Amino acid sequence: MIILGVIIHWYLTVFVHAIYLHRYKSHKQFALSKKAERVFNIISYLITGSSYLDPTTYSICHKLHHSHSDRNKDPHSPANSKNYFDFHLVTIKNFMKVRNNIVKPRQSFIQKFASSIYSRITWIFKPAIRPFFFLPC
Ligand SMILES: [Zn+2]
Repeated sequence: MIILGVIIHWYLTVFVHAIYLHRYKSHKQFALSKKAERVFNIISYLITGSSYLDPTTYSICHKLHHSHSDRNKDPHSPANSKNYFDFHLVTIKNFMKVRNNIVKPRQSFIQKFASSIYSRITWIFKPAIRPFFFLPC
């Protein structure tokens, strides 16, 4: 049952990331109404929990990644990092820089709340509050 939960959670996370953050928010490959977009954002928050990525910030960083692949302005490039850990630290730093300087003033309530430290801490108690509480992760 635990392995099944991990597999289901993994695929839901991949679905939200690939369809909502990548295909919709970054590349606008399909259209959504404002209401549907809000629903997707909430689903993204509920599925990814403490790993929630602000969709607007993700979109900007992803476009920078495509525009400047493996060059200095690429916010997510192993070519600009010393090792695996540095790669992730640089990516987080760049993500936070974009979020704090460009996106934060325009964030919706759910984006502000989901990106806050208070929200991330509440996921410690996720078995009690998460809709997929039966899932182990
Ligand atoms: Zn892309």
